[in-house]
Amino acid sequence: MTPDVLVPRPETEGLVDLALAFLRAGAEASPRIADVGTGSGVLAVTLACELAAASFTATDISPAALDVARHNAALANVAGRIDFVLCDILPFGLPGAPFDCIVANLPYVRTADLAPAPDPTSFEPRQALDGGPDGLVAYRRLLETAPSSLARPGLLLMEAGPDTAEPLANLVTLAFSAEATVKIDRDYAGHERIVAVRR
Ligand code: GLN
Repeated sequence: MTPDVLVPRPETEGLVDLALAFLRAGAEASPRIADVGTGSGVLAVTLACELAAASFTATDISPAALDVARHNAALANVAGRIDFVLCDILPFGLPGAPFDCIVANLPYVRTADLAPAPDPTSFEPRQALDGGPDGLVAYRRLLETAPSSLARPGLLLMEAGPDTAEPLANLVTLAFSAEATVKIDRDYAGHERIVAVRR
């Protein structure tokens, strides 16, 4: 970790567990996975360690974050299966699409809930935390392209905050119409944390 990336939180383990359960039960022997806003690379690298035949596309808008993610992938010996792409969210036509699974831990803290900058208690980039006025600015953008980037069957997993999970699930219903099922999962503390979209 460096000050260029979000420090992974225990809550994100739940997202990894859901992705693994889906991909291990699936028929796809060599699944394609997208990690949107990869930051330190924690999701792509962990899933790559667990799924030896999977290949990955990991995006981030921060070149410095991608350097950290590349370094972590190399340390874990999985760099050869992760394609790192410098871009914003999930552009249309990304190499590797459509994906069997899309995972995202995008910034979802409401701007008003963030400590005023500069926050002396945090070395994390604001860009990795600030989700705009309602915490959903980045996820709204992801939902513009996720439906066409997700395979059938496919699973989209998004980490959110206890106040944003339900509004995010409502946005999913609009973006995917009736062709997907949406479920909100709780974290180990019992807070609504992960929005899972399956089709
Ligand atoms: N869970 C983090 C926090 O509350 C936020 C992570 C994020 O915005 N993706 O600090």
